Amino acid sequence: MQNYETVWANCLKIIKENLGPENDQVFKTWFVPIVPIQLENNILTIRVPSQFFYEWLEEHFIDLLKRTIRLQLGPNGMLKYSILMDTSIADTPITTNIPSTGRQATMNRAKDIPLVINTDDNNREIPNPFIYPGLQKLKINSQLNGNYTLENFVEGNCNRLARAAGFAVAENPGRTSFNPLLLHGGVGLGKTHLAHAIGIKTKELHPDKTVLYVTSEQFLQQYVDAVRNKNTNDFVHFYELIDFLILDDIQFWASKGTHTQEAFFHIFNYLHQRTSQIIITSDKAPANLGSLEPRLLSRLKWGLSADLGTPDAETRIAILKQKLANDGIEMPEDVIEYIAYNINTNVRELEGALVSLIAQSSLNHKQITIDLAKQMIDKFVKSTSREITIDYIQKIVCDYFKLPIESIQSTTRKREIVQARQLTMYFAKKMTKSSLAIIGLQCGNKDHATVLHACKTVANLNETDKQFHYWVDELERKIKE
Ligand code: ADP
Ligand code: MG
Repeated sequence: MQNYETVWANCLKIIKENLGPENDQVFKTWFVPIVPIQLENNILTIRVPSQFFYEWLEEHFIDLLKRTIRLQLGPNGMLKYSILMDTSIADTPITTNIPSTGRQATMNRAKDIPLVINTDDNNREIPNPFIYPGLQKLKINSQLNGNYTLENFVEGNCNRLARAAGFAVAENPGRTSFNPLLLHGGVGLGKTHLAHAIGIKTKELHPDKTVLYVTSEQFLQQYVDAVRNKNTNDFVHFYELIDFLILDDIQFWASKGTHTQEAFFHIFNYLHQRTSQIIITSDKAPANLGSLEPRLLSRLKWGLSADLGTPDAETRIAILKQKLANDGIEMPEDVIEYIAYNINTNVRELEGALVSLIAQSSLNHKQITIDLAKQMIDKFVKSTSREITIDYIQKIVCDYFKLPIESIQSTTRKREIVQARQLTMYFAKKMTKSSLAIIGLQCGNKDHATVLHACKTVANLNETDKQFHYWVDELERKIKE
């Protein structure tokens, strides 16, 4: 007898492999939150966080899920969803059967895959008893920063899902399953920017909505003041009139503000019931917010949690260019690239480096050159030793041989390109922690055996060929520089 947890763990492995490392974000968002709950009569039941989530899986991953289930449970294996209902804390299963057999799934699933959804009598739409006739619409200052727009928020793999979810929320506040929308990610990766941007877009599309941005720290302070002035009722009522509430940095409440969290918990429930939209940001993933009140924490898991990752080199370059364009400043391309490749921690530092460089150059009347950038960055990142990445190595190797960076990805067998590709693989193996498989994938979608072969070839040539030895030495120095 197979155990459901093992079966699902195996499924996850297959899914992860199929999606590949470039879709790690997709994997984290749509598969990691799934909880296996039962395996009976060859039917695996998995629990998904919301109806929307289930629909998304159906629309985008049905083929993959079918194949995976078939691999694990054989041709008669079935998958059943249980959907966590939002109306109570208890799970109320909605079950949907997807036979893993059957014809090729197409988007026209109603025809091809029998779908049974038993909604029980547990209705998600709760009538709103709180709309009083003549209730005045509140006019408040939204506290939104007009510079943080969606248009200014550069899109990359690291933020695509969060950005798309944000856009969906702005179009349809409170009416998607992204409620609450939890944006999480490390410091300086754009949570606050994106949260403001979603608020601004919402106001643009729905001018009648009352949008409010507040930091968790401000909220706590307001609550403490309200308690002191004995007007917590007013405080709570004020928040209950908001249609679109953005609460930034909820991790600030960890291990403190129990009463504040309780007040927010009640406000949250109220707003959620009347389908007001709630956006919360956190620099920790929900799993690492253990020191928040458990009741509140459970609410955060109701909607969608989307993480913001570290931008890749291409996105970093795009962000720098956009900032420069906004400020009307010209900067040589190689300097931009130099900054982007050397500062890979977060966007805030990237911006900081850019601003320092501009300040340096204008204060000292110096031209912005690579040398100036180098001096500045040496000071800037002295303590944080730079991490060498595969794309950085690719860049150094391609620059050295004056090849376009895309050539590494191409399938060409031209000698000079093959050589550059092999050198890249060799240094990636030697100087990064990446596996052979990952290196292969990033160097033109090659398999691990090819990478291994490349490493051996370079090592051999390095010992036997003078010219090659020179290249290896030079490149190694440049990469470490
Ligand atoms: P967080 O709240 O996650 O700590 P912020 O939203 O304050 O980070 O972002 C730090 C800085 O980086 C801000 O100035 C923001 O405008 C900028 N930034 C972050 N991500 C992006 C992006 N994708 N495009 C443009 N600017 C960005
Ligand atoms: Mg922030």
